[in-house]
Amino acid sequence: MDKHVDAAFDGEENSTMSVNIKTIGVIGSGQMGSGIAHVCAQAGFDVRMLDISEDALSAGMDKIHKGMARQVKRGEFAAEDVDAAIAHISTSTEYASLADCDFVIEAASEDENVKKKILHTLCPILKEEALIASNTSSISITRLGAQTDRPGKFLGMHFMNPVPRMELVELIRGIATDEVTYDTIRELTGRLKKRAVNAEDFPAFIVNRILLPMINEAVYTLYEGVGSVDAIDTAMKLGTNHPMGPLELADFIGLDTCLAVMHVLHDGLADTKYRPCPLLVKYVEAGWLGRKTGRGFYDYSTDVPVPTR
Ligand code: NAD
Repeated sequence: MDKHVDAAFDGEENSTMSVNIKTIGVIGSGQMGSGIAHVCAQAGFDVRMLDISEDALSAGMDKIHKGMARQVKRGEFAAEDVDAAIAHISTSTEYASLADCDFVIEAASEDENVKKKILHTLCPILKEEALIASNTSSISITRLGAQTDRPGKFLGMHFMNPVPRMELVELIRGIATDEVTYDTIRELTGRLKKRAVNAEDFPAFIVNRILLPMINEAVYTLYEGVGSVDAIDTAMKLGTNHPMGPLELADFIGLDTCLAVMHVLHDGLADTKYRPCPLLVKYVEAGWLGRKTGRGFYDYSTDVPVPTR
């Protein structure tokens, strides 16, 4: 087995955890934060989910309820276990609610300043031994870790969307991340029934370093009139056997997140091949962020999404 790819979790008796993780904090209750809270609760951890407003928290809880109902329908989760899993999750807009967490995963918007502010507020209320991860898609883990009072206890834990369905978690060490921190979170990843792959701390890590330039190129293809939204997505689905076309996938990820990742690649690697497509910039400026706002490359106001170009 490649040393960068984890075997399946081999049981609690071989635990190497530096801290006995029972309570997990999740900051941000959007598509990723709610998904992370969902899988942590299902694995039996107590979860404290935090966001900036009660509306965002109730939207997050709604996603978790719907997600679990879908799993029950597909026979992936027992109906009688739903209430117990939901009961593991509490929500708050107050950082004090995270004080007893053994581990906190930051999954707020992909904006370095937002993440820095969150880390500054979080650290003073956390216990000394608590670990922190960021679910960032692209931002330097070393730079985020340096904003904390515990860079050795900080790492990148990058879940994929939708979290309950996707098996991969990229684990990223910052330059200061302690080995025991990495091992603890690798073990936790197994307990969440996910597989960890090690990625080094370079802009956008592995998956997004490869995926986002493809999506950006699909937007250029649309921008230059090479194909319509439908033609581009159909061509990539039928021509490369991808389950989703790149523009449909961009809407699913969120166009703001896609643009933020392209900026990180462009700034961090200083190569013009990562230049964000002006059409992607325009969509984000218009507030057309994809599925989460009801419009992106498709319009989601009807049952069947309609291409917008
Ligand atoms: P989202 O827009 O769905 O959710 C972001 C949430 O963060 C919102 O609920 C927002 O209210 C909240 N938030 C903003 N500022 C905050 C603050 N100061 N404190 C607490 N909460 C705050 O975004 P998302 O898709 O869930 O992305 C979240 C993170 O996960 C980003 O770093 C993103 O790069 C990463 N990520 C996204 C995907 C994806 O496919 N969307 C995949 C992997 C990782």
